Amino acid sequence: MSKVIVSALYKSDVFTMACRQFDQAADAINLPEDLRDRTKYPRRCLAVALPIKRDDGSITVFEGYRVQHNLSTGPSKGGIRFHEHVTIGEVAALAMWMSWKCSLVGLPYGGAKGGVICNPRQMSQGELERLSRRYMQEMINFVGPQIDVPAPDMGTNEQIMGWMMDTYSNHVGHVEPAVVTGKPISLGGSEGRREATGAGVAYLVKAYLEDMKIPVKNATVAIQGFGNVGSETAAALANYGAKIIAISDYTGAIYNERGIDIRKALEYVKYAKVLKDFDGGQAISNEQLLELKVTVLIPAALERVITNDNAPKLQCRLLAEAANGPTTNSADKILEQRGDIEIIPDVLCNSGGVIVSYFEWLQNLQHYYWTRDEVLQKLFTMLDRAKASVDAQKAKFGFSRRLAALTLGIARVADAKRIRGLFP
Ligand code: GLU
Repeated sequence: MSKVIVSALYKSDVFTMACRQFDQAADAINLPEDLRDRTKYPRRCLAVALPIKRDDGSITVFEGYRVQHNLSTGPSKGGIRFHEHVTIGEVAALAMWMSWKCSLVGLPYGGAKGGVICNPRQMSQGELERLSRRYMQEMINFVGPQIDVPAPDMGTNEQIMGWMMDTYSNHVGHVEPAVVTGKPISLGGSEGRREATGAGVAYLVKAYLEDMKIPVKNATVAIQGFGNVGSETAAALANYGAKIIAISDYTGAIYNERGIDIRKALEYVKYAKVLKDFDGGQAISNEQLLELKVTVLIPAALERVITNDNAPKLQCRLLAEAANGPTTNSADKILEQRGDIEIIPDVLCNSGGVIVSYFEWLQNLQHYYWTRDEVLQKLFTMLDRAKASVDAQKAKFGFSRRLAALTLGIARVADAKRIRGLFP
């Protein structure tokens, strides 16, 4: 049988990492050879040039991508990232992880991801609006409520989803809220969506601490990243009574062994935009934060931050992967050999976001809206179910928790592909 090398387009460390994870999981479940490449590689992608008029009258051409990894089990689903270091390989890896995540938690979606190479912090609201609208305009034939449903990710937010929804709706000639999720409530967004990822991370952290017989009130926590996910996770864990002793963003980290007042940090960031110079603790580096002695370490920013170098030095009991792909393959091996750190793998840990996105899409299609309590209750029920299935798979086959989660997610996608067969 000839082997097709498909991935020249996506060549990057992060795509290789996602492929290695896939290969390991496929080996672990003896996935038939003829299903492997079909399940592993992204189905299709679109790269677009986005010429935008700047406020000073000049024009900048941005580059944007959308990768749809799997379309076999429903429309594809996943966020759009605005970040200066976005690459198509990264977007493809993130799309792959969305497939396993949606499949693991039982959502009727394939995985997708989008990205634009830009620094939203250095752009005005007007420039961001033109960029967001242009991106959606270029994607019109590639997305839709039954095709591919984008959402926020790093660097994008409710307002950006609102502009995208408006652009799409204007094009089709009627209001179409179900084309994106993570919208403002007034445009058909769901109660609880903004905090969903963080609320889910905190809920799972609390549940795993209970399994480890550690009362959440005795837990100390360090969180890398104070964007939507990191800050909502911090707020939810502080609510449960945990002590957040370190937080960080790209400007550096803040450490306070007595516990950081998260409400104050949130107020500060609202005004200052960054954590730099926040006086709720002492300044340390992001690297130091990762190696602190804490009960729970939560990477909630970019991928590949737990590496060969720092994996041997981690001092946490529980590693909760709020970010997508924070742990490299070799760091993962080191942590497995160490055996003293429990891991909540990304595809389970941060799935609260896409679960509530699914609720938002359902509410949009039904034109019937749920209360916040209903949303959160349904979210926690789905997380309980996913956690139980991952832990059962782990116990049954003696897998690591990551391998358990990935094998469940991948097996369902592969099975759907097998049953549907090849067309024509
Ligand atoms: N960007 C989020 C993720 O990585 C959410 C995706 C969505 O809601 O579709 O899971």
